[in-house]
Amino acid sequence: MADHMSSATQPPSAILPTYARADVSFARGEGCWLEATDGSRYLDFGAGIAVCCLGHGHPHLVNALIDQGRKLWHVSNLFRIPEAERLAQRIVDASFADYVFFTNSGAESLEGAIKTARKYHAAKGHPERFRLITFEGAFHGRTLATIAAGGNPKYIEGFGPKADGFDQAPFGDIEAVKALIGPQTAGVLVEPIQGEGGIRVPPASFLKALRALCDEHGLLLVLDEVQSGMGRTGKLFAHELMGVMPDILATAKGIGGGFPLGAFMTTREAGSGMVTGTHGTTYGGNPLAMACGNAVLDVVLAPGFLEEVAHKGTLLKQRLAALQDAHPKVIAEIRGEGMMLGLRTHTSNAEFAVAARAQRMLVIPAGDNVVRLLPPLIAGDEEFAEAIDRLGRACQQIEADLAAKGNGSAS
Ligand SMILES: *Cc1c(COP(=O)(O)O)cnc(C)c1O
Repeated sequence: MADHMSSATQPPSAILPTYARADVSFARGEGCWLEATDGSRYLDFGAGIAVCCLGHGHPHLVNALIDQGRKLWHVSNLFRIPEAERLAQRIVDASFADYVFFTNSGAESLEGAIKTARKYHAAKGHPERFRLITFEGAFHGRTLATIAAGGNPKYIEGFGPKADGFDQAPFGDIEAVKALIGPQTAGVLVEPIQGEGGIRVPPASFLKALRALCDEHGLLLVLDEVQSGMGRTGKLFAHELMGVMPDILATAKGIGGGFPLGAFMTTREAGSGMVTGTHGTTYGGNPLAMACGNAVLDVVLAPGFLEEVAHKGTLLKQRLAALQDAHPKVIAEIRGEGMMLGLRTHTSNAEFAVAARAQRMLVIPAGDNVVRLLPPLIAGDEEFAEAIDRLGRACQQIEADLAAKGNGSAS
């Protein structure tokens, strides 16, 4: 049980131990700061894994939640929900989509997106076209279909036969995608920027080339913007940066600002198979969730907000690049777009995250030896200065550890 080494020193818990949790708990949050139960304050550049896009305790979100909480929480999708119709229309007006379906999580959004793509072809008389081309290093969730789509053996093994219908290509390799297209292919499912995979940004032309391939072969382009969506990259959705429109898109994380909410969206054409009775959810889009989603959009779509995220993201990236120059033995690379940034380490990303936490700063490990910096989108100069300070001290600590181990003299 090497994965759970840390739990040996922690008091037992009745939570199923699928996580190796850090032994810290938080009592409250304000803006970009979290207060631990021992009173210490942490700078939060994880934002609950890109969820708390407006930070903690944002007054507009808190008020929206409380106001709606007093009125009505839940009614079911057997009835019209005006708050949901309003949020869907606002998302449609601001995006490529014609329709929105609200869910409770990223994985549920992906399931809906995958079903929509399959049903499109089935409704056109081609039920055999159910396969999606996906990519190495992808992460699409933890349900049976989404672990198969993600393709990570660590998540697949031991859970029975792998769900059929996913063919993997190396991320960014358009020739490999071409080679995988066959008579059963329904579409391509891709993160415009891989999140869990390590903030991997594909070559600039990749998404455009995928779009062209899809058009040529009658395939649907399905984007997973669960992490990159809702303003994270300085656009409402990351594909806007790449000048490409999808047919179907799944999002979640930031959309509820911390309230569990997701959505999948589709053009009229790609969604044409999803008629009455084909899909549903009990909780998805309930009035309480919709109040939070509408409140998030009030802020994210306010004039200038997204431009500001893009601008601040550039500033943060520059400061991180300077930090890399100062600590070349620790930091190998800075990458990403907007406030979706990755810091690739030479040493160990897990060790880096621990060192940052010792400086009371939260960052999130990802694949490819990267830690993710996903600050609340409201973070600014003050928080960036704090972050660079703390990350600098974390780098110094790692350098001191390297020197003590005698590995510091190699270069
Ligand atoms: C987090 C994430 C998911 C899964 O979301 P859950 O809410 O955990 O189900 C899917 N895709 C991407 C790109 C993600 O970052």
